[in-house]
Amino acid sequence: MKLPSLNTQILLGAPMGVALGVWFAALGPASSVAQQGLYVSGLIGTLFVDLLKMILVPLVFTSIAVGVANLRAHRQMHRVWLLTLGFFVLSMAIAIVLGMGAANLFQPGKGLSLALFHDATQGFQAKQMSIGEFGQSFLHGLFVNPFAALAKGDVLAIVVFALFLGIALVAGGERYRNILTLLQEGLELTLRMVGWIMRLAPFGIMALLVKLVATQNMALLTTLAKFVAVVLGTTLLHGAVMLPLILYLVTGMTPLLFWRGAREALVTAFATSSSAATLPVTLRCVEQHLHVKPEIAGFVVPLGATVNMDGTALYEAAAALFIANLAGIDMNLLQQGIVFLTAMLGAIGAPGIPSAGMVTMIMVLQSVGLPLDAIAILLPIDRLLDTLRTAVNVEGDMVGALVVQKLVRS
Ligand code: ASP
Repeated sequence: MKLPSLNTQILLGAPMGVALGVWFAALGPASSVAQQGLYVSGLIGTLFVDLLKMILVPLVFTSIAVGVANLRAHRQMHRVWLLTLGFFVLSMAIAIVLGMGAANLFQPGKGLSLALFHDATQGFQAKQMSIGEFGQSFLHGLFVNPFAALAKGDVLAIVVFALFLGIALVAGGERYRNILTLLQEGLELTLRMVGWIMRLAPFGIMALLVKLVATQNMALLTTLAKFVAVVLGTTLLHGAVMLPLILYLVTGMTPLLFWRGAREALVTAFATSSSAATLPVTLRCVEQHLHVKPEIAGFVVPLGATVNMDGTALYEAAAALFIANLAGIDMNLLQQGIVFLTAMLGAIGAPGIPSAGMVTMIMVLQSVGLPLDAIAILLPIDRLLDTLRTAVNVEGDMVGALVVQKLVRS
Protein backbone atom coordinates (compact mmCIF):
# COMPACT_ATOMS: atom_id res chain seq x y z
CA MET A 1 0.00 0.00 0.00
CA LYS A 2 1.29 3.44 -0.87
CA LEU A 3 1.36 5.87 2.05
CA PRO A 4 -0.06 9.36 1.56
CA SER A 5 2.54 12.11 1.09
CA LEU A 6 4.28 13.57 4.11
CA ASN A 7 2.29 16.78 3.73
CA THR A 8 -0.99 14.89 3.83
CA GLN A 9 0.17 12.86 6.81
CA ILE A 10 1.05 16.04 8.71
CA LEU A 11 -2.24 17.68 7.81
CA LEU A 12 -4.12 14.58 8.99
CA GLY A 13 -2.07 14.26 12.18
CA ALA A 14 -2.59 17.86 13.32
CA PRO A 15 -6.40 17.82 13.67
CA MET A 16 -6.21 14.34 15.18
CA GLY A 17 -3.87 15.74 17.81
CA VAL A 18 -6.25 18.60 18.57
CA ALA A 19 -9.21 16.20 18.81
CA LEU A 20 -7.36 13.85 21.15
CA GLY A 21 -6.28 16.82 23.26
CA VAL A 22 -9.87 18.00 23.61
CA TRP A 23 -10.92 14.48 24.53
CA PHE A 24 -8.22 14.12 27.21
CA ALA A 25 -9.14 17.53 28.60
CA ALA A 26 -12.78 16.44 28.78
CA LEU A 27 -11.84 13.22 30.59
CA GLY A 28 -10.14 15.31 33.26
CA PRO A 29 -6.78 14.90 35.02
CA ALA A 30 -8.00 12.02 37.19
CA SER A 31 -8.68 9.69 34.26
CA SER A 32 -5.98 7.11 33.72
CA VAL A 33 -6.59 7.07 29.96
CA ALA A 34 -5.90 10.80 29.82
CA GLN A 35 -2.87 10.47 32.07
CA GLN A 36 -1.33 7.73 29.97
CA GLY A 37 -2.22 9.45 26.73
CA LEU A 38 -0.61 12.66 27.91
CA TYR A 39 2.46 10.80 29.12
CA VAL A 40 2.97 9.10 25.76
CA SER A 41 2.32 12.24 23.75
CA GLY A 42 4.65 14.22 26.01
CA LEU A 43 7.35 11.66 25.32
CA ILE A 44 6.88 11.56 21.54
CA GLY A 45 6.57 15.34 21.26
CA THR A 46 9.74 15.93 23.26
CA LEU A 47 11.68 13.37 21.25
CA PHE A 48 10.63 15.01 18.00
CA VAL A 49 11.70 18.45 19.20
CA ASP A 50 14.96 16.95 20.54
CA LEU A 51 15.73 15.51 17.12
CA LEU A 52 15.13 18.87 15.46
CA LYS A 53 17.33 20.56 18.03
CA MET A 54 20.03 17.95 17.52
CA ILE A 55 20.31 18.79 13.85
CA LEU A 56 19.87 22.54 14.31
CA VAL A 57 23.42 23.55 15.19
CA PRO A 58 25.24 21.81 12.31
CA LEU A 59 22.51 23.05 9.99
CA VAL A 60 22.67 26.72 10.98
CA PHE A 61 26.43 26.71 10.89
CA THR A 62 26.85 25.08 7.50
CA SER A 63 23.90 26.72 5.78
CA ILE A 64 24.90 30.27 6.69
CA ALA A 65 28.60 29.79 5.95
CA VAL A 66 27.84 28.13 2.61
CA GLY A 67 25.06 30.62 1.86
CA VAL A 68 27.31 33.63 2.35
CA ALA A 69 30.28 32.04 0.58
CA ASN A 70 28.11 31.26 -2.43
CA LEU A 71 26.79 34.79 -2.63
CA ARG A 72 30.14 35.55 -4.17
CA ALA A 73 28.90 34.01 -7.37
CA HIS A 74 26.17 36.60 -7.30
CA ARG A 75 28.44 39.60 -7.55
CA GLN A 76 25.53 41.28 -5.83
CA MET A 77 26.25 40.31 -2.31
CA HIS A 78 25.58 43.74 -0.83
CA ARG A 79 22.23 43.85 -2.61
CA VAL A 80 21.18 40.58 -0.99
CA TRP A 81 22.21 41.93 2.41
CA LEU A 82 20.36 45.19 1.99
CA LEU A 83 17.23 43.61 0.56
CA THR A 84 17.12 41.01 3.30
CA LEU A 85 17.48 43.49 6.15
CA GLY A 86 15.11 45.92 4.45
CA PHE A 87 12.49 43.22 4.08
CA PHE A 88 12.86 42.10 7.70
CA VAL A 89 12.42 45.62 9.10
CA LEU A 90 9.56 46.52 6.77
CA SER A 91 7.53 43.36 7.35
CA MET A 92 7.93 43.64 11.11
CA ALA A 93 6.89 47.30 10.96
CA ILE A 94 3.72 46.36 9.07
CA ALA A 95 2.97 43.66 11.64
CA ILE A 96 3.42 46.08 14.55
CA VAL A 97 1.19 48.69 12.93
CA LEU A 98 -1.50 46.04 12.49
CA GLY A 99 -1.19 44.88 16.10
CA MET A 100 -1.26 48.39 17.53
CA GLY A 101 -4.07 49.45 15.22
CA ALA A 102 -6.24 46.54 16.31
CA ALA A 103 -5.44 47.08 19.99
CA ASN A 104 -6.37 50.76 19.70
CA LEU A 105 -9.52 49.92 17.81
CA PHE A 106 -10.86 47.12 19.96
CA GLN A 107 -9.30 48.22 23.27
CA PRO A 108 -9.04 44.79 24.89
CA GLY A 109 -8.70 45.03 28.65
CA LYS A 110 -10.33 48.45 28.88
CA GLY A 111 -12.35 48.91 32.04
CA LEU A 112 -10.86 45.91 33.84
CA SER A 113 -8.68 46.58 36.80
CA LEU A 114 -5.45 44.78 37.47
CA ALA A 115 -6.70 43.77 40.90
CA LEU A 116 -8.96 41.36 39.11
CA PHE A 117 -5.91 39.41 38.12
CA HIS A 118 -4.33 39.59 41.50
CA ASP A 119 -4.10 35.80 41.79
CA ALA A 120 -2.46 35.40 38.44
CA THR A 121 0.16 38.02 39.16
CA GLN A 122 1.15 36.62 42.50
CA GLY A 123 4.40 34.78 42.78
CA PHE A 124 5.81 35.90 39.47
CA GLN A 125 9.08 37.74 39.61
CA ALA A 126 9.86 39.66 36.43
CA LYS A 127 13.45 40.07 35.43
CA GLN A 128 14.28 43.77 35.45
CA MET A 129 16.03 44.98 32.33
CA SER A 130 16.10 48.44 30.80
CA ILE A 131 16.52 49.14 27.07
CA GLY A 132 20.16 50.08 27.68
CA GLU A 133 20.87 46.87 29.55
CA PHE A 134 19.01 44.85 26.98
CA GLY A 135 20.99 46.46 24.14
CA GLN A 136 24.22 45.80 25.97
CA SER A 137 23.50 42.16 26.67
CA PHE A 138 22.25 41.70 23.11
CA LEU A 139 25.47 43.09 21.64
CA HIS A 140 27.55 41.16 24.11
CA GLY A 141 25.86 37.92 23.04
CA LEU A 142 26.78 38.43 19.38
CA PHE A 143 30.48 37.65 19.56
CA VAL A 144 31.17 34.47 21.42
CA ASN A 145 33.88 31.82 21.23
CA PRO A 146 32.50 29.73 18.37
CA PHE A 147 33.27 26.42 20.05
CA ALA A 148 31.40 27.46 23.18
CA ALA A 149 28.50 28.75 21.06
CA LEU A 150 28.34 25.51 19.06
CA ALA A 151 28.49 23.41 22.21
CA LYS A 152 25.83 25.42 23.99
CA GLY A 153 23.59 25.73 20.94
CA ASP A 154 23.71 29.53 21.13
CA VAL A 155 22.09 30.18 17.77
CA LEU A 156 22.62 33.93 17.43
CA ALA A 157 26.33 33.66 18.15
CA ILE A 158 26.62 30.74 15.72
CA VAL A 159 24.90 32.82 13.04
CA VAL A 160 27.41 35.64 13.59
CA PHE A 161 30.45 33.38 13.46
CA ALA A 162 29.16 31.59 10.36
CA LEU A 163 28.70 35.00 8.70
CA PHE A 164 32.34 35.83 9.47
CA LEU A 165 33.48 32.48 8.13
CA GLY A 166 31.41 32.87 4.96
CA ILE A 167 32.81 36.35 4.33
CA ALA A 168 36.37 35.08 4.92
CA LEU A 169 35.74 32.30 2.41
CA VAL A 170 34.56 34.86 -0.14
CA ALA A 171 37.59 37.08 0.51
CA GLY A 172 39.99 34.13 0.31
CA GLY A 173 38.51 32.88 -2.97
CA GLU A 174 40.02 29.82 -4.68
CA ARG A 175 42.55 29.32 -1.95
CA TYR A 176 39.97 27.86 0.43
CA ARG A 177 37.99 25.88 -2.10
CA ASN A 178 38.46 22.63 -0.15
CA ILE A 179 37.05 24.05 3.02
CA LEU A 180 34.05 25.39 1.13
CA THR A 181 33.50 21.98 -0.47
CA LEU A 182 33.72 20.36 2.95
CA LEU A 183 31.09 22.75 4.32
CA GLN A 184 28.88 22.21 1.29
CA GLU A 185 29.02 18.45 1.72
CA GLY A 186 28.37 18.89 5.43
CA LEU A 187 25.24 20.85 4.59
CA GLU A 188 24.01 18.21 2.14
CA LEU A 189 24.59 15.50 4.70
CA THR A 190 22.72 17.46 7.35
CA LEU A 191 19.77 17.98 5.02
CA ARG A 192 19.66 14.26 4.38
CA MET A 193 19.28 13.65 8.11
CA VAL A 194 16.60 16.34 8.25
CA GLY A 195 14.68 14.31 5.67
CA TRP A 196 14.74 11.30 7.98
CA ILE A 197 13.61 13.30 10.98
CA MET A 198 10.74 14.74 8.94
CA ARG A 199 9.30 11.27 8.41
CA LEU A 200 8.47 11.37 12.11
CA ALA A 201 6.88 14.81 11.85
CA PRO A 202 3.24 13.64 11.57
CA PHE A 203 3.54 11.80 14.90
CA GLY A 204 5.63 14.48 16.56
CA ILE A 205 3.24 17.24 15.56
CA MET A 206 0.20 15.24 16.59
CA ALA A 207 1.73 14.50 20.01
CA LEU A 208 2.71 18.14 20.60
CA LEU A 209 -0.81 19.31 19.80
CA VAL A 210 -2.41 16.71 22.11
CA LYS A 211 -0.36 18.01 25.02
CA LEU A 212 -0.90 21.66 24.13
CA VAL A 213 -4.67 21.43 23.82
CA ALA A 214 -5.20 19.18 26.83
CA THR A 215 -3.22 21.34 29.24
CA GLN A 216 -4.58 24.82 28.39
CA ASN A 217 -6.18 26.68 31.24
CA MET A 218 -9.61 27.32 29.77
CA ALA A 219 -10.96 29.44 32.65
CA LEU A 220 -8.30 32.06 32.27
CA LEU A 221 -8.65 31.91 28.56
CA THR A 222 -12.27 32.96 28.74
CA THR A 223 -11.37 36.00 30.81
CA LEU A 224 -8.74 36.97 28.32
CA ALA A 225 -10.82 35.96 25.31
CA LYS A 226 -11.04 39.41 23.76
CA PHE A 227 -7.31 39.95 23.87
CA VAL A 228 -6.67 36.45 22.55
CA ALA A 229 -9.14 37.11 19.71
CA VAL A 230 -7.51 40.44 18.81
CA VAL A 231 -4.02 38.96 18.75
CA LEU A 232 -4.98 35.78 16.89
CA GLY A 233 -7.12 37.79 14.44
CA THR A 234 -4.43 40.33 13.56
CA THR A 235 -1.70 37.70 13.42
CA LEU A 236 -3.87 35.75 11.03
CA LEU A 237 -4.53 38.91 9.01
CA HIS A 238 -0.82 39.51 8.69
CA GLY A 239 -0.08 35.88 7.81
CA ALA A 240 -3.03 35.19 5.53
CA VAL A 241 -3.40 38.58 3.82
CA MET A 242 -0.44 40.96 4.21
CA LEU A 243 2.47 38.58 3.66
CA PRO A 244 0.80 36.72 0.76
CA LEU A 245 -0.08 40.12 -0.75
CA ILE A 246 3.51 41.34 -0.55
CA LEU A 247 4.62 38.02 -2.03
CA TYR A 248 2.13 38.26 -4.86
CA LEU A 249 2.90 41.89 -5.66
CA VAL A 250 6.65 41.31 -5.77
CA THR A 251 6.95 37.85 -7.25
CA GLY A 252 3.55 37.06 -8.76
CA MET A 253 3.34 33.81 -6.76
CA THR A 254 -0.22 32.95 -5.77
CA PRO A 255 -1.07 32.24 -2.11
CA LEU A 256 -2.15 28.69 -3.01
CA LEU A 257 1.15 27.89 -4.63
CA PHE A 258 2.99 29.35 -1.66
CA TRP A 259 0.87 27.40 0.82
CA ARG A 260 1.57 24.14 -1.01
CA GLY A 261 5.30 24.67 -0.80
CA ALA A 262 5.32 26.13 2.70
CA ARG A 263 2.79 24.08 4.67
CA GLU A 264 5.22 21.53 6.12
CA ALA A 265 7.17 24.33 7.76
CA LEU A 266 4.08 26.28 8.83
CA VAL A 267 2.50 23.30 10.57
CA THR A 268 5.79 22.34 12.22
CA ALA A 269 6.22 25.91 13.49
CA PHE A 270 2.66 25.90 14.79
CA ALA A 271 3.20 22.67 16.70
CA THR A 272 6.71 23.30 18.04
CA SER A 273 6.33 27.05 18.78
CA SER A 274 9.97 27.38 17.83
CA SER A 275 11.38 29.02 14.71
CA ALA A 276 14.77 27.54 15.53
CA ALA A 277 13.49 23.98 15.85
CA THR A 278 11.51 24.47 12.63
CA LEU A 279 14.51 25.81 10.72
CA PRO A 280 15.52 22.46 9.20
CA VAL A 281 12.01 22.11 7.80
CA THR A 282 11.82 25.74 6.67
CA LEU A 283 15.04 25.44 4.74
CA ARG A 284 13.87 22.26 3.10
CA CYS A 285 10.58 23.87 2.03
CA VAL A 286 12.22 27.02 0.72
CA GLU A 287 14.86 25.21 -1.32
CA GLN A 288 13.05 22.10 -2.44
CA HIS A 289 9.41 23.14 -2.75
CA LEU A 290 9.60 26.88 -3.34
CA HIS A 291 12.76 26.66 -5.47
CA VAL A 292 14.79 29.42 -3.91
CA LYS A 293 18.47 29.11 -4.81
CA PRO A 294 20.54 27.63 -1.96
CA GLU A 295 22.83 30.66 -1.74
CA ILE A 296 19.88 32.96 -1.07
CA ALA A 297 17.89 30.52 1.08
CA GLY A 298 20.98 29.59 3.10
CA PHE A 299 21.47 33.23 3.97
CA VAL A 300 17.97 34.64 4.39
CA VAL A 301 16.24 31.75 6.16
CA PRO A 302 18.63 30.97 9.05
CA LEU A 303 19.19 34.68 9.67
CA GLY A 304 15.45 35.27 9.55
CA ALA A 305 14.77 32.46 12.01
CA THR A 306 16.58 34.38 14.73
CA VAL A 307 16.00 37.98 13.63
CA ASN A 308 12.81 38.29 11.58
CA MET A 309 9.74 37.69 13.73
CA ASP A 310 6.59 39.38 12.46
CA GLY A 311 4.25 37.48 14.77
CA THR A 312 6.34 38.23 17.85
CA ALA A 313 6.64 41.93 17.00
CA LEU A 314 2.88 42.18 16.53
CA TYR A 315 2.23 40.35 19.78
CA GLU A 316 4.62 42.40 21.89
CA ALA A 317 3.13 45.67 20.68
CA ALA A 318 -0.49 44.57 21.11
CA ALA A 319 0.23 43.09 24.53
CA ALA A 320 1.82 46.33 25.75
CA LEU A 321 -1.33 48.26 24.84
CA PHE A 322 -3.48 45.56 26.45
CA ILE A 323 -1.55 45.81 29.70
CA ALA A 324 -1.78 49.60 29.60
CA ASN A 325 -5.55 49.22 29.37
CA LEU A 326 -5.62 46.76 32.24
CA ALA A 327 -3.63 49.14 34.37
CA GLY A 328 -5.87 52.02 33.35
CA ILE A 329 -3.04 53.92 31.67
CA ASP A 330 -3.75 55.94 28.53
CA MET A 331 -0.76 55.88 26.26
CA ASN A 332 0.04 58.99 24.23
CA LEU A 333 1.51 59.01 20.74
CA LEU A 334 5.09 59.27 21.94
CA GLN A 335 4.66 56.29 24.24
CA GLN A 336 3.09 54.32 21.41
CA GLY A 337 6.08 55.25 19.25
CA ILE A 338 8.40 53.86 21.90
CA VAL A 339 6.33 50.67 22.02
CA PHE A 340 6.68 50.41 18.24
CA LEU A 341 10.47 50.61 18.41
CA THR A 342 10.98 48.39 21.42
CA ALA A 343 8.57 45.77 20.08
CA MET A 344 10.74 45.53 16.98
CA LEU A 345 13.91 45.29 19.08
CA GLY A 346 12.27 42.71 21.30
CA ALA A 347 11.31 40.60 18.29
CA ILE A 348 14.79 40.88 16.79
CA GLY A 349 16.36 39.95 20.10
CA ALA A 350 14.07 37.02 20.87
CA PRO A 351 15.65 33.65 20.10
CA GLY A 352 13.44 31.28 18.10
CA ILE A 353 12.34 29.17 21.05
CA PRO A 354 8.95 28.76 22.75
CA SER A 355 7.80 31.82 24.72
CA ALA A 356 10.97 33.78 23.98
CA GLY A 357 8.86 36.78 23.00
CA MET A 358 7.46 36.78 26.52
CA VAL A 359 10.91 37.39 27.96
CA THR A 360 11.91 40.22 25.64
CA MET A 361 8.52 41.83 26.19
CA ILE A 362 9.69 42.86 29.63
CA MET A 363 11.82 45.45 27.86
CA VAL A 364 8.83 46.82 25.95
CA LEU A 365 6.80 47.21 29.15
CA GLN A 366 9.66 48.77 30.98
CA SER A 367 10.37 51.31 28.26
CA VAL A 368 7.01 52.95 28.86
CA GLY A 369 6.78 52.25 32.57
CA LEU A 370 4.07 49.60 32.49
CA PRO A 371 3.77 47.17 35.40
CA LEU A 372 6.06 44.21 34.76
CA ASP A 373 4.17 41.75 36.90
CA ALA A 374 1.29 42.00 34.43
CA ILE A 375 3.30 39.49 32.41
CA ALA A 376 2.01 36.83 34.74
CA ILE A 377 -1.45 37.38 33.29
CA LEU A 378 -0.16 36.61 29.84
CA LEU A 379 1.95 33.62 30.81
CA PRO A 380 -0.86 31.06 31.01
CA ILE A 381 -2.10 31.92 27.52
CA ASP A 382 1.31 32.30 25.99
CA ARG A 383 1.70 28.76 24.73
CA LEU A 384 -1.56 29.12 22.88
CA LEU A 385 -0.66 32.42 21.18
CA ASP A 386 2.89 31.24 20.55
CA THR A 387 1.63 28.65 18.06
CA LEU A 388 0.26 31.07 15.49
CA ARG A 389 2.85 33.77 16.01
CA THR A 390 5.67 31.28 15.44
CA ALA A 391 3.98 30.05 12.25
CA VAL A 392 3.78 33.65 11.02
CA ASN A 393 7.40 34.27 12.06
CA VAL A 394 8.46 31.34 9.91
CA GLU A 395 6.16 32.38 7.07
CA GLY A 396 7.87 35.79 7.05
CA ASP A 397 11.24 34.11 6.56
CA MET A 398 9.99 32.06 3.63
CA VAL A 399 8.29 35.04 1.97
CA GLY A 400 11.50 37.01 2.60
CA ALA A 401 13.61 34.43 0.76
CA LEU A 402 11.27 34.49 -2.25
CA VAL A 403 11.07 38.28 -2.33
CA VAL A 404 14.84 38.74 -2.03
CA GLN A 405 15.48 36.18 -4.77
CA LYS A 406 13.11 38.02 -7.09
CA LEU A 407 14.39 41.51 -6.36
CA VAL A 408 18.06 40.56 -6.63
CA ARG A 409 17.46 39.23 -10.09
CA SER A 410 15.48 42.16 -11.37
N1 ASP B 1 8.29 31.14 19.72
C1 ASP B 1 8.65 32.21 18.83
C2 ASP B 1 9.54 31.67 17.74
O1 ASP B 1 10.24 30.73 17.93
C3 ASP B 1 9.32 33.33 19.53
C4 ASP B 1 8.36 33.97 20.46
O2 ASP B 1 8.21 33.53 21.60
O3 ASP B 1 7.69 34.92 20.06
O4 ASP B 1 9.54 32.20 16.65
